[in-house]
Amino acid sequence: MAEDSLQPLRDALAFSPENLPLRLHLAESLLKYGRGEEAEREYKEALVRHPKDNKVKLGLAKAYHAQGKFSPSLVIVEDLIKNDDTPAAYTLYARLLVQRGEVERAVRVYKQGIELDGSVADLELAAKLGIGADESNDVIDGRVRSNWEEPGNEEPGEIERPKVNFSDVGGMESLKEEIRLKIIHPLAHPELYQAYGKAIGGGILMYGPPGCGKTHLARATAGEVKASFLSIGINDVLEMWIGSSERNLHEIFEQARRNKPCVLFFDEVDALGASRTDFKNSSARQVINQFLAELDGVNTSNEGVLILAATNMPWHLDSAFRRPGRFDRILFVPPPDAGARATILRILCKNKPQENIDFDAVARKTDQFSGADLKAVIDQTIEAKLREAMKTGIPKPMLTKDLIAAAATLKPTTKEWFSTARNYALYANQAGLYDDILKYVK
Ligand code: ATP
Repeated sequence: MAEDSLQPLRDALAFSPENLPLRLHLAESLLKYGRGEEAEREYKEALVRHPKDNKVKLGLAKAYHAQGKFSPSLVIVEDLIKNDDTPAAYTLYARLLVQRGEVERAVRVYKQGIELDGSVADLELAAKLGIGADESNDVIDGRVRSNWEEPGNEEPGEIERPKVNFSDVGGMESLKEEIRLKIIHPLAHPELYQAYGKAIGGGILMYGPPGCGKTHLARATAGEVKASFLSIGINDVLEMWIGSSERNLHEIFEQARRNKPCVLFFDEVDALGASRTDFKNSSARQVINQFLAELDGVNTSNEGVLILAATNMPWHLDSAFRRPGRFDRILFVPPPDAGARATILRILCKNKPQENIDFDAVARKTDQFSGADLKAVIDQTIEAKLREAMKTGIPKPMLTKDLIAAAATLKPTTKEWFSTARNYALYANQAGLYDDILKYVK
């Protein structure tokens, strides 16, 4: 068995733990046998003793890669290729890029590697990349390559000018009030806030079950103050950061500053959670620190950039985010109550053919439905009406019973979230952070 065959190596190492070639040999053998986790341990141990050794770093990157832990692997490899002295890092980097779908960059990186040292060629990878054909018409994924250029200098996000405002958001009155106080009024009357010595700044973080209007409210906030709106998924930011250092968080904040007044909305901020295994790696923490630094910068020197953020999993969030001046207001966005549901339904049906719909009656039949669930009710009703109209040739307006019938076929999607959230609220309720959840589930 593989385990037995490596035991003598382990014994020898126990005898001379400082023997680096021996430890590397053990780690490489572990990798060869597909035992990535154990190899990771050996490489980490070696790194403690030889923190500057690039061979050890590369080995650790390979061990991560073998286990599908792609982002720590990328972090190390990117660091290694800053100097040209580890050509084999290029091959691994190319593999990681392919895994991310960046085939063209992978080809370029692979070629750089073999230019430095022909012996790092990896024929299987080369074949996958279509390298080896005539230089002028290399193929990628079966297609003839036409050009190697990176896409141009695009802006990191897309600036919107939302037409919706608070009147398009049903319910959420206390949230709207909080946003007015914390974000809108300081923007409109900075002098008043100064007079009372009240600091301007800090963002609002919204959390709650999916589909309950966090994004919708953020967009409406921009519409309310006629600001531009820049919505960024943190997972995309991470991809950017890991993939290329030029396009990073800083550029996103810069883009917001160029377009001020601007509501800068970050979705999925839990992706920056310190508890994620990817972030145990210290260099990967840089992205969290960069984010925090940018937040602080917005507060001190960049008036006109309003920060909102949202997450469905607040418990994964790094506590550094909650410090004053950062996200010091953390607000629970519950599913809409009956009154809010009626308002949301009314908003969703605006300008659609309808007759005397009793929105309160529909609201009573849609307990625990999120805004997105209610949208599904309306979409389904309209589809049914269309099918009917196709048959009869006569378009008919939506009626109360149509909506109730559609609702009966759907289930609220918020339930699952609450069963998870309840556990966090009960067993990991840091400083009463989730009291609102407990109040709600009671
Ligand atoms: P996720 O966590 O999945 O990103 P979310 O909380 O950001 O969800 P939204 O994307 O804002 O939810 O909501 C989904 C859709 O539901 C919105 O596009 C909107 O049409 C509708 N909606 C949700 N809440 C409301 C509301 N309070 N008023 C009007 N429409 C709403």
